[in-house]
Amino acid sequence: MPNIVIFGAPGSGKGTQSQRIAERYGLHHISTGEVLRKHISEGTPLGVVANEYIKDGHLIPDDLMLRVLEHELDSNPNTTAGVIFDGFPRTLVQADAFEKMMEKRGSKLDMVLGLEVNEDDLIQRMINRGQQTGRADDNIDTIRERLNVYHQQTSPLRDFYINNGKYVAIDGNPAPDTIFSNISSVIDAI
Ligand code: AMP
Repeated sequence: MPNIVIFGAPGSGKGTQSQRIAERYGLHHISTGEVLRKHISEGTPLGVVANEYIKDGHLIPDDLMLRVLEHELDSNPNTTAGVIFDGFPRTLVQADAFEKMMEKRGSKLDMVLGLEVNEDDLIQRMINRGQQTGRADDNIDTIRERLNVYHQQTSPLRDFYINNGKYVAIDGNPAPDTIFSNISSVIDAI
């Protein structure tokens, strides 16, 4: 089964689409944001550190994030049957280390699905999500900082994956069902 990264700005629908992809294709879903939020809610030492970055809308340092990801892969035996990576990688350093990590495991990244959404819609989606779920970093000040961080540190990955031929652009503006149907066509064609 394929290893897929779902890529996009905060609020682009990565979580929603990842869940559906995981369900339909039997992939293991790793959301690094969810992993960190679980640590925060359980008050673990990692959670305490992660919260300092997340509450300001900043990224967790690369070395720490790479250890978290490696631990997720090691502790879930079903990851060998294909994974949907949601929220990782988010920097070029992570993307480079990720290639090596997969190679070491005798595996590889097959495809990056890039959800492309109009910027104004992103903000509104995150505000709505914050109201519905109470997610702490979905407030307007943190949202703006997360978008800045995305543009500075994460969006260069788009070119990185275009250049290595793995990037597939997905229009993330229509309704979730339409997006999922477009994603399914891409995965079915692998
Ligand atoms: P997400 O749920 O993917 O939007 O992630 C929420 C927050 O968790 C981000 O704003 C970052 O602070 C942190 N985070 C999640 N994934 C990563 C990552 N790959 N690298 C650094 N920080 C991350």
